Amino acid sequence: MTQGGFGGLKPLQIIGDGEQGMAAPVGASVAAAPSGRTSAKVIIVGSGPAGLTAAIYAARANLGPIVLGGYEAGGQLMITSDVENFPGFPEGIQGPELMGRMRAQAERFGAVVVDVDVERVDLSRRPLHLWAGGVEYEAETVIAASGASALWLELESESRLRGRGVSACATCDGFFFRDRKVVVVGGGDTALEEALFLTRYAREVVMVHRRDQFRGSRIMQERALANPRIRVLWNSRVVEVLGEDHVTGVRLRDTVSGAERDEPADGVFVAIGHRPNTRVFREWLDVDDKGYLSVHEETRTRIDGVFVAGDVHDARYRQAVTAAGDGCRAAIDAERWLAEHGLAEPATMSAW
Ligand SMILES: Cc1cc2nc3c(=O)[nH]c(=O)nc-3n(C[C@H](O)[C@H](O)[C@H](O)COP(=O)(O)OP(=O)(O)OC[C@H]3O[C@@H](n4cnc5c(N)ncnc54)[C@H](O)[C@@H]3O)c2cc1C
Repeated sequence: MTQGGFGGLKPLQIIGDGEQGMAAPVGASVAAAPSGRTSAKVIIVGSGPAGLTAAIYAARANLGPIVLGGYEAGGQLMITSDVENFPGFPEGIQGPELMGRMRAQAERFGAVVVDVDVERVDLSRRPLHLWAGGVEYEAETVIAASGASALWLELESESRLRGRGVSACATCDGFFFRDRKVVVVGGGDTALEEALFLTRYAREVVMVHRRDQFRGSRIMQERALANPRIRVLWNSRVVEVLGEDHVTGVRLRDTVSGAERDEPADGVFVAIGHRPNTRVFREWLDVDDKGYLSVHEETRTRIDGVFVAGDVHDARYRQAVTAAGDGCRAAIDAERWLAEHGLAEPATMSAW
């Protein structure tokens, strides 16, 4: 079982002076980042593909970015295994390894990455202010790249059994279900990917979906439906996770007839979607009807000098490469904003 129970990230290796929890994914070749700096021309919130790509660009433009990367260092790709669609890796690459490499690349050019959550921001005055891990930071520009987080079913039994058979991370926890039977809840790409991944370990994967067809991409649906280890229970909703100190099954309700029945299982993987991590920004920035941050002009927001990148504003594409592309765009926009305001040498733009 992973550190901190099921659904946690890969164990992190603590490096540096540790005061603010500087950490890097195990196996990443990173140097200890300098600590102690609390002001920067660019502060990036989030260390997923968007945040770290922004950091690479900002660092190469001599902007000395600080990345307040969050406790979930590396973002969503830390909970996946094979990434086969990120350009440059014809054989595919493991999610944590890809994120370790991105971080090492950002740190190589001088980005400081601190694994703390930003608790509060004040974007009403210049410089912009952020608070994280008990430290106050000041920034001329901020790039919000705080991504999205997995959703849970919000059942009491689900929270009680988290780490005891309930998980939202097949990559972290699938190993513990070798030759067992597991349930995957959901019908989108995340659920299909989790289910397919789990067939490497589990003897049977039961997908529980509340509708009569999947929402995921056609190729993922075809793969899942063709896999002999995957069985689908359509029109079914999990109303309770069964078990006292470990999962023994799920109670299902038929969404058409209302009838309930129990399905035995050793594990439950919840894969029902994500929520954008906008809490600290919502007071200051516009959000759309799904709660994602809105951009107004390229990567700009309604606050001058604040930019947005990645899944925190993107409910449509939600891919590592689009998040990385956004990070690049936000860093270039921030650099141009700084140059326009006499806070950075325009010449540095040739560094791209
Ligand atoms: C199971 C799974 C498999 C996937 N597989 C693929 C794949 O094969 N290929 C692909 O292209 N995409 C894949 N994706 C999608 C991809 O992971 C995301 O699109 C991408 O990670 C988004 O990057 P991001 O940087 O915008 O956000 P995230 O990766 O979500 O990173 C957000 C970062 O913000 C930090 N954060 C959040 N709140 C705060 C705060 N208050 N203060 C500071 N930091 C904060 C988090 O700690 C994290 O570091 C997968 C996603 C999942 C869940």
